[in-house]
Amino acid sequence: MSVSFHLCQPGKGASCGACCGLYNFRDHSRAALTERLAEQTTRLRDVPKEPAAWHGAARELVESRREAPLFPAVRVCPLLGFLDEAQQQVGCLGHPKATGGVDLRSCGVYRSSICETFTCPSFSWLTDEQARLVLAACPDWYLYGLVITDVEFVRGCLRLIERELGGPAKPEKVLARPAALAAMRRLFALKETAPGRDVHAPIFGRFTPDTEGEPTSRTLNYARLGVRASPEDDVVLCLGYIPGDAQSLTAARERVRHHIRAVSRALMD
Ligand code: SF4
Ligand code: SF4
Repeated sequence: MSVSFHLCQPGKGASCGACCGLYNFRDHSRAALTERLAEQTTRLRDVPKEPAAWHGAARELVESRREAPLFPAVRVCPLLGFLDEAQQQVGCLGHPKATGGVDLRSCGVYRSSICETFTCPSFSWLTDEQARLVLAACPDWYLYGLVITDVEFVRGCLRLIERELGGPAKPEKVLARPAALAAMRRLFALKETAPGRDVHAPIFGRFTPDTEGEPTSRTLNYARLGVRASPEDDVVLCLGYIPGDAQSLTAARERVRHHIRAVSRALMD
């Protein structure tokens, strides 16, 4: 394992529920997810802490969902919620630490033992420095989960900064410079803020459902767009752009470049 802290609940404002299916909806906006998490938290708050009652409440929550999962093959757990009144920390409401000692996680979509031991690929694919950079730049539950689980996005951003600098872009250097960290925060925040995307399209970052409902990686059709590949394109795809013509692809690339240059400038000052 290359990351030295626990990615799921690292503190400092960050928390993640991506593997519990948090983002698995077409509308995975902050507003929509906040509403769903708040609903699940409220519904489960006063349910007696015993399996039969929690199984029943979990079933009701699933049946009352207004939107089907984007990737039908990927489970969405109704036991995910806010762990605090201020709605700043997402996490498992069936975890013994949340229930006061009872393990109710098997009332969700996996067995408790799976929830206890699962680690997503980011645990081994991100370096410790990359993970620390994401934690420092994304101190909030919504953005942190989107970025920490998108290894290609993190690597792609750092690759572009290295290209701009003409040398290594060490995450620790970004962490040591407040202006660079602020620029990095704005770059990672494009996951939420980037304009000109079709937010209702059946995609999540660079993935779209295949015929089995599993996530499959998207690519750009350069022949149809009439353009050559560019180094920004991995990040453009990870941001969820679906450029329909050369002009919109150029605009998305330019938006990425603008933020890459801002981080690079702050590192050179
Ligand atoms: S997606 Fe990864 S970081 Fe997020 S909660 Fe799951 S295991 Fe933890
Ligand atoms: S029961 Fe498991 S899948 Fe459901 S929210 Fe808890 S940890 Fe996630």
